[in-house]
Amino acid sequence: MSQLTVGKDVLSYCTKCKLNLGHTIVAMKDSIHIAKVKCNTCQTQQSFKDPTLAKQNKTRTRKTTSAPSKVISVSDLWMEKMSSTKKKSTPYAMDHKFVQGDIIDHTKFGPGIVEKVVDDKIEVIFRHDIKTLVHNKH
Ligand SMILES: [Zn+2]
Repeated sequence: MSQLTVGKDVLSYCTKCKLNLGHTIVAMKDSIHIAKVKCNTCQTQQSFKDPTLAKQNKTRTRKTTSAPSKVISVSDLWMEKMSSTKKKSTPYAMDHKFVQGDIIDHTKFGPGIVEKVVDDKIEVIFRHDIKTLVHNKH
């Protein structure tokens, strides 16, 4: 790569001509970065705009926002249900009769919420799983 110095010709984007044109270097930022250039066509002095970089920026319009997944996990559901109830938890026991919305404190599965009651069975949402348990057994 040839040394860039004041007075040399470089390709830069002219904001007046709106084209990538030959420009003469007027000032350098440092040994490798051009500060100011003068358009060889319209003689306008302006800051150097690397035509290759400008092109890259245009094509680099990558989507950063990916659509959020709509999948609701059991734990999300559990969290939602548990946070929307003010009921006190009841230790789980087979002979206890539970109703929908009851909070169960299960010795193995932990706290859960009764989602459905079907006869002598209850469907309970626990932190990691949905379980069907028996209740109202005498
Ligand atoms: Zn120009």
